[in-house]
Amino acid sequence: MNAKILDGKKLQDKIAVELKKEVAGLKTVPNLAIVQIGEMPQSSAYIGMKKKFSEKIGAKVHHIILPLGVDQKGVFSVIDELNKRKDIHGIIVQLPIPKHLDRYQIMEAIDPSKDVDGLHSKNSALVYESAYGGKDQKNIPEGLVPATAKGIISLLKENKVKIGGIKTLIIGRSLLVGKPTAMLLLKENATVTVAHSKTKDLNKLCKENDIIIVAAGKAGLIGKGALKKGQVVVDVGTNAVKGGKTLEEHEKIKLVGDVVFKEAEKIVGAISPVPGGVGPMTVASLFQNLLKAYNMQV
Ligand code: NAP
Repeated sequence: MNAKILDGKKLQDKIAVELKKEVAGLKTVPNLAIVQIGEMPQSSAYIGMKKKFSEKIGAKVHHIILPLGVDQKGVFSVIDELNKRKDIHGIIVQLPIPKHLDRYQIMEAIDPSKDVDGLHSKNSALVYESAYGGKDQKNIPEGLVPATAKGIISLLKENKVKIGGIKTLIIGRSLLVGKPTAMLLLKENATVTVAHSKTKDLNKLCKENDIIIVAAGKAGLIGKGALKKGQVVVDVGTNAVKGGKTLEEHEKIKLVGDVVFKEAEKIVGAISPVPGGVGPMTVASLFQNLLKAYNMQV
């Protein structure tokens, strides 16, 4: 039997309906500023998806394109102006940014209450602290949570995947995906293991876990040798690869995940596809964050 598909597009549509209703009831229109540095085609495609979703829910996107060679001061002055504007409720700097810029310092320049990507250290700390799980947890606000991590949890919950007490492996330890996802899963009482490029016997480790979140950015990393019956697999990886059976298809770029989908769907209990899984959830979660940021400011 083939695995159940964890359909991110379907859940994105459901969230869009909820957000549209919420936006319609507000006094002003939530406005997301997207700062793009250079015009990398893949970044432009991601921004296009955000604009489309924004239109769908009745929010606004203010898209600023800076030249590829812009210096740190130039980026700071744009962020500073956006921080001050009362009509801007969320700010993101589209990643990746050119290597000559300091990503950490740029994230730190964003007003934490407008940091809808959740990458300011103040928001990262809240994700970490709110995952503690002890007696004091109820007093710790969640802050703005990185959209991909938030989207992964929503996708699991929507599909009624049991998380509490379940052995869960996250492959990847980035600030953007791996670490915040580990914290959110810990908050849901999963028993969490985090793997990375130095982890030994990855296939064996995968088989020991019942939920696997794969966020390595390596096409084909996880195949049948790593999987077992009944597992839930969330494929975050987004890799542009060339290939196909015919000569014509061979030259075309297509997006694939880190998991060999054709092998996995025959073995596991549930799996998120690429595209159509975590990607749409990231967009929807970003706009949930925008609404949260709006409500913190207005
Ligand atoms: P990243 O910063 O490059 O981190 C990749 C992580 O994977 C690192 O921790 C790395 O280990 C680990 N890794 C790499 N090769 C590995 C291997 N062979 N075995 C085990 N671990 C390995 O990437 P990221 O920003 O977290 O993104 C990860 C992937 O998710 C990318 O494909 C990205 O495009 C995708 N993504 C998708 C969405 C979406 O909305 N669908 C959003 C964000 C990211 P080390 O730490 O040891 O180097």
